[in-house]
Amino acid sequence: MYLKSLTLRGFKSFASTTTLRFEPGITCVVGPNGSGKSNIVDALAWVMGEQGAKSLRGGKMEDVIFAGTASRPPLGRAEVVVTIDNSDGALPIEYSEVTLSRIMFRNGGSEYAINGRPCRLLDIQELLSDSGIGREMHVIVGQGQLEEVLHATPEERRGFIEEAAGVLKHRKRKEKALRKLEAMQANLTRLADLTTELR
Ligand code: ATP
Repeated sequence: MYLKSLTLRGFKSFASTTTLRFEPGITCVVGPNGSGKSNIVDALAWVMGEQGAKSLRGGKMEDVIFAGTASRPPLGRAEVVVTIDNSDGALPIEYSEVTLSRIMFRNGGSEYAINGRPCRLLDIQELLSDSGIGREMHVIVGQGQLEEVLHATPEERRGFIEEAAGVLKHRKRKEKALRKLEAMQANLTRLADLTTELR
């Protein structure tokens, strides 16, 4: 599995459609300060399901949409498409090439797709986390993040290891199941009240 290409359209400083193609091995992106190198990494994190504006170095989620320059008006939407080579089947999906896309509109709406088929954010997050990549999997190490790990408490460090080991997905499912159980318990209590009233 490797990253084949990344297309940005209206994402941060990339107003025009820009496609970066990668080959297997190491790729370096070089450029002057402020030219958009980190924005490329942000785009990758975003299309893989990042939900935190702070992790994307913004104040709010719309900050990923091209905000305009002196010579160019702001845009109404941001789009990122990533193509992953899956010929080794690392991603649990029957395609040798997988395309993930994410679009965000300035009114707050979002669209996600896997190989062109509309899906939920959760589907993208689950597809990636099964293979150990994606959001919160520490495949993207941001500036200052190493320091954060070095200064972390033992509990926080355990959290990093659990996430890298893929426990996170199961913890989220457990939390979801517990929320459902709580709602069910509230319904049962309500039902018991109604039954008592009817007697
Ligand atoms: P450095 O080498 O200093 O870390 P860099 O190449 O990583 O720089 P980035 O941080 O990726 O640069 O890009 C910063 C630029 O992106 C700034 O000029 C900023 O104005 C621009 N930018 C960020 N968000 C937006 C946005 N929503 N719309 C337009 N431009 C944006």
